[in-house]
Amino acid sequence: MKKRSCVNQIKFVIPSLSVNEGVARSVIAAFCAQANPTAIDIADIKCAVSEAITNCIVHGYKNGIGDIYIDVKIYDTDLVVISIKDKGCGIADVKQARQPLFTTDAESERSGMGFTVMESFMDKLSVRSVPGKGTSVTMTKRLNNLHTN
Ligand code: ATP
Ligand code: MG
Repeated sequence: MKKRSCVNQIKFVIPSLSVNEGVARSVIAAFCAQANPTAIDIADIKCAVSEAITNCIVHGYKNGIGDIYIDVKIYDTDLVVISIKDKGCGIADVKQARQPLFTTDAESERSGMGFTVMESFMDKLSVRSVPGKGTSVTMTKRLNNLHTN
């Protein structure tokens, strides 16, 4: 199989303010638009990004404000890889955290469905975390793009 090549990339860093959840979602959607995705693919990406950024804000940096590192790559014409990292509190047990309905924050009416949403709207989800050091989420989606050449 031919090796995929990265044709475009955007990297940016934002502080974990709740207003930046919408900012990250819109910037990533605008960046992905160059691949001519369907409206459904863009809606899926926005949803998954929103969950990942919210987790950095409400869990990773629950005790203050820290930086969120975002890196989005487009490979060839139809593969998007989105990486979202924080240097917050980290996750003690990633396998448990990924279970549907698992939450460490039931008091705030969290439903424990963020990772499940990311998994279902994207093709692949990988979560790496070190307690006390931070968390990195990488999501991949193959676009059903409308590209013609
Ligand atoms: P919901 O997303 O439905 O509002 P939730 O955020 O608790 O609820 P998930 O997004 O699935 O559910 O995350 C599950 C758990 O994983 C969280 O409760 C939290 O303990 C942990 N977690 C997720 N992301 C991070 C992160 N970036 N830093 C630290 N802990 C995290
Ligand atoms: Mg969540």
